[in-house]
Amino acid sequence: MNILGIETSCDETSAAVLGGGKVLSNVVSSQRCHTGFGGVVPELASREHERLIVSIVEAAMAEANIAKNDLDLIAATAGPGLIGAVMVGLCFAEGLAWALGKPFVPVNHVEAHIFSPFISDETGHREPTGDFVSLTVSGGHTLLSVVRQDLSYEVIGRTIDDAAGEAFDKTGKMLGLGYPAGPVIDRLARDGDPQFHRFPRALTSSSQTSKSYRGNFDFSFSGLKTSVRTWLENHDAEFAQVHQADLAASIQSAIVEVLVEKTVTAAQLHKVNAISVAGGVSANSGLRSAMQAACRRHGIELFIPALAYSTDNAAMIATMAQLMIERGKYSIENNSYGVAPFARFDAARKGAR
Ligand code: ATP
Ligand code: MG
Ligand code: FE
Repeated sequence: MNILGIETSCDETSAAVLGGGKVLSNVVSSQRCHTGFGGVVPELASREHERLIVSIVEAAMAEANIAKNDLDLIAATAGPGLIGAVMVGLCFAEGLAWALGKPFVPVNHVEAHIFSPFISDETGHREPTGDFVSLTVSGGHTLLSVVRQDLSYEVIGRTIDDAAGEAFDKTGKMLGLGYPAGPVIDRLARDGDPQFHRFPRALTSSSQTSKSYRGNFDFSFSGLKTSVRTWLENHDAEFAQVHQADLAASIQSAIVEVLVEKTVTAAQLHKVNAISVAGGVSANSGLRSAMQAACRRHGIELFIPALAYSTDNAAMIATMAQLMIERGKYSIENNSYGVAPFARFDAARKGAR
């Protein structure tokens, strides 16, 4: 089956071709127009997607060396994301599918992150063969779910305020690291002391309350943000500058510790012996190594997609479409053109699009 996947939900314009279950091409362009704004500007994002979509799709098709008529279906993100941004890829994909007389498959972007360990390319891949716990950590979501082989999943925890990626980006912004700050904190943290300052680890066993949070799989990162702001207010700018790497390492370890503790506990309590970490924050080197160490200690098998498939990419959209069809979650007979884009994950899950 040859599948063209298209992703435009936020600030990455991406197209990928899957052939025989393997990624033949995965072209990603990350928008740089938002750097000076401290976050993604929705209208600019839509315009950039519009400017690039044709050339990105052409590049993906050329690299895969597949003619448009040899595609079996076209898939695109229908949400969640910025509505205007989603709409560009969705309308383009539907229009192309309609013109070629091919089926169109709408994909949920967050589900595509959850199932990203199933992405396979020429380097091959390992995938969970039984139930697994998925930690999905990205710019807009922090979800802990128990996932089954029939593609069903139960969300057992989520953030009650900021997403993990947002915690990196917002605290990094306070340190003057630009947007997105996650990768910069990651780089700085390698030379810093994670014990320089102990920032709060909310809703964990080390929270400063007598309550036990074992079995509570929700996350909260807004207190960390306040705590970093307070620290910066109480120390002079020069001292903060000298200790930039130490602050980055301290912030990163606060976030990572919470993510690792909750995920490993979830696997234990739900009696599964595989964990998958996906979404942009799974690119974080501190999270990768801490999760590896914890899984080794507890005899849990760990799946983390290659870096190219951690942050937004269309290979995961095409792979998700293939899984949905193979595992009977979607029938291409549906041939649904005119799918409505949706902004929020929950709206999609409740079917209220
Ligand atoms: P969502 O998937 O929730 O809709 P999104 O698509 O914008 O949001 P992704 O592209 O999956 O999110 O991830 C982007 C996030 O990942 C940003 O918050 C970014 O700072 C973070 N991120 C990327 N690389 C790293 C890294 N090495 N360390 C920490 N955070 C990182
Ligand atoms: Mg992005
Ligand atoms: Fe994403």
